[in-house]
Amino acid sequence: MTSTQSSFDIVIVGGGLVGMSLAVALAKCPCSMLLLEQNQAAPLHANVLDLRTTGLTRSSEKLFMQAGVWQEIASTATPIERLDISEQGNFGAARIDANQHRISPIGYMVPNRHLIEKLSAQVAQLSNIKILSPATLDSVQANASGYEISVNHNGEQVGFTTALLVGSDGGNSKVRSILGIDAEHKSYQQSAIITNVRTQKAHQNVAYERFTQHGPLAVLPIQDDCCALIWTQAEANVDSYLQMNDQMFLQSLQKAFGYRLGRFIEVGKRAAYPLSLTVSNELTRPHAVLIGNAAQTVHPVAAQGFNLGLRDVNTLVQMLVDIDFNPEYINSMLEEYEQKRAPDRDHVIKLTDGLTRLFAHQAWPVKMLRSVGIRMISSLPAAQRGVLRRNLGLRHFMNTRDEMEEHG
Ligand SMILES: Cc1cc2nc3c(=O)[nH]c(=O)nc-3n(C[C@H](O)[C@H](O)[C@H](O)COP(=O)(O)OP(=O)(O)OC[C@H]3O[C@@H](n4cnc5c(N)ncnc54)[C@H](O)[C@@H]3O)c2cc1C
Repeated sequence: MTSTQSSFDIVIVGGGLVGMSLAVALAKCPCSMLLLEQNQAAPLHANVLDLRTTGLTRSSEKLFMQAGVWQEIASTATPIERLDISEQGNFGAARIDANQHRISPIGYMVPNRHLIEKLSAQVAQLSNIKILSPATLDSVQANASGYEISVNHNGEQVGFTTALLVGSDGGNSKVRSILGIDAEHKSYQQSAIITNVRTQKAHQNVAYERFTQHGPLAVLPIQDDCCALIWTQAEANVDSYLQMNDQMFLQSLQKAFGYRLGRFIEVGKRAAYPLSLTVSNELTRPHAVLIGNAAQTVHPVAAQGFNLGLRDVNTLVQMLVDIDFNPEYINSMLEEYEQKRAPDRDHVIKLTDGLTRLFAHQAWPVKMLRSVGIRMISSLPAAQRGVLRRNLGLRHFMNTRDEMEEHG
């Protein structure tokens, strides 16, 4: 039986990277919040080779700065200064140097667990946010002013009411299905093999993106001069890459990546993430909104999923501030929110899906076009700026900076 109900202005379902970031970004708001997370925080790994990392763009840095948490995050962030794009079997590579475009660094690599830990520590200091964990959303019932929510907390049913329900509960969002919002789903029949590696040569803050016949292979700079590896493989090959011994794995990686970083010396624990595109057909219902992976789950080829989710957070917080958190205006605000987020979502969904398809083709005319494209990026500064703006989520950051410079 559900016990009596406390009331919160906002209930956030899902305390992953996006839900936790929303709580932090709303810290100074004059409203009460409840954050529900079904998993209890895992302890931090001591070994840097076993940490999963995420690439952050400069706009994400800006959001965390505004929320007063960037300094904490920056302590474990590794800046990305240069980008090296190549294709296996095609001669040459495109190198983009952030300094030449007055945008140094391009972004940062941050260990996920550190990110969550810093965000949770910030949330724990706030008196207007309550975290309930482990707590799973069970059911939701609409009422005149929002929702009645039933939650399983340590085996007990607890009830809450809220004027705004936020679904940040990931790709398989229960909030989405309870609200009756449909989603388009497409499996890429691929998985990303994730691990960290130690290399013979120092990474010098270069991020490598290499397109192979099985999909993209990213080798990204992280702490202690190690590199994070995101290696896309066809579904049928994944188990063998997870099960082969470290030596064989490093040899296969060396073959696919080449010797830009010398020899691969050591590898951490490996894990595989099946890759798919899930796009919610709508983002809102009266008194409810989906953000982050619950709204859209994209291929990690351009390291955009979390950064896009943070832009959901940014827009939502700004719009809540604009209406002074007045529940009367929530529904009209949500309608506007859906329209505001459309162009950015569309861009990232098309970009990630398009890149995945473009580099999957092995027919020679397409290979030749790709080779020309990579050479163009290598030699044309305008093409390099295009990659920085469109492919790396820097257009928001660069547009603001260019506007500021234009207006003195
Ligand atoms: C291999 C790989 C590499 C990536 N690299 C990058 C990168 O470099 N840069 C980038 O921007 N993005 C990257 N992404 C994407 C990024 O990881 C995701 O976009 C981001 O983690 C989504 O966060 P989220 O909080 O929306 O969802 P999730 O991380 O899925 O979190 C959802 C949370 O909700 C909780 N939850 C679910 N259901 C319930 C319920 N019923 N009740 C309570 N809690 C619930 C879950 O336990 C979970 O903690 C990558 C993704 C992959 C797969």
